[in-house]
Amino acid sequence: MKFDYWRYDLKLKHTFTISRSSRDVVPVVLIKIEKDGITAYGEASPNARYNENQDSVEAFFKKVDLDKLSDPFKLEYIDDYLDSIASHNASAKAAIDIAMHDWIGKKLGIPLYKFFGGEKEKAPVSTFTIGIDTPDVIIEKVKEAADYPVLKIKVGLPNDEEIIKAVRSVTKKPLRVDANEGWKSKEEALERINWLATQNVEFIEQPMPASQIDDVRWLRERVKMPIVADEAVGSLYDMSVLATAYDGINIKLQKNGGLLKARKMIYAARANKMKIMLGCMIESSVGITAAAQISPLVDWNDLDGNVLISNDPFKGALNEDGKIVLNDEPGLGAKPLG
Ligand code: MG
Repeated sequence: MKFDYWRYDLKLKHTFTISRSSRDVVPVVLIKIEKDGITAYGEASPNARYNENQDSVEAFFKKVDLDKLSDPFKLEYIDDYLDSIASHNASAKAAIDIAMHDWIGKKLGIPLYKFFGGEKEKAPVSTFTIGIDTPDVIIEKVKEAADYPVLKIKVGLPNDEEIIKAVRSVTKKPLRVDANEGWKSKEEALERINWLATQNVEFIEQPMPASQIDDVRWLRERVKMPIVADEAVGSLYDMSVLATAYDGINIKLQKNGGLLKARKMIYAARANKMKIMLGCMIESSVGITAAAQISPLVDWNDLDGNVLISNDPFKGALNEDGKIVLNDEPGLGAKPLG
């Protein structure tokens, strides 16, 4: 098997600000494997929140014994092998897992959504994300997103109300709100959620730091709005504990280690009566198309990472004003441009 990887800087159309960071460029690592005349792709979008960057991704790849990947159909074995190299490193593992799946689909001649048993027309509509900004810029961004039926609004800094009021000055459409662990006390979180409840907000994502699960449990007893875990979702084994404090989980291939692990988390969350959101990092169409392949299996989609960038090096699944459009090419269905 041939295994190549290269660094690529995804450029954001707008500076993207969430409660803990602000970025104009997102450095990723793309991979290409070749075996039996089939070329397959994967992507790692490492995130500082999980102590990853391009260097850590490449360091992980250097430890991989390619002989262990020689039969991509052995997804379970490969997944265990990757976990045995090192814990964490979810984005590096996701890149390899995505490429293995792309290869399998191409070998079988079927798109991955069929391999997973989904119906591509059933994918729930995707939100479009509005990062934290000044009210004037927020209003402009909301107008640009006019065709998206549901918006995801980032909050978690002191100007939350100002942001939501700016959004509400131009649209009545349903909102989903993500605080990215921004509210540090349960009393503050309760007050903010009670106010959001008056603003046609469907659910709140990660209101408090992942480590403060007891506070989230306290919060959940006092609010009606569903609370969704994102940064708190680590491994498959967290699910029964998370279910005591959260109503749903946000699964991301780059945070949770790829398609195989994501599918197991979907089943574990269902077994614990939790709703499932499928999210993303800022990723090219390789990573987003991989997620789109399992998007028919979840309740809420948030797959706009490739829509937010201006130099996507691939073309794959499309997000047409929130509608996820998968093609019927074998494997991922993501092709390099140029
Ligand atoms: Mg989130």
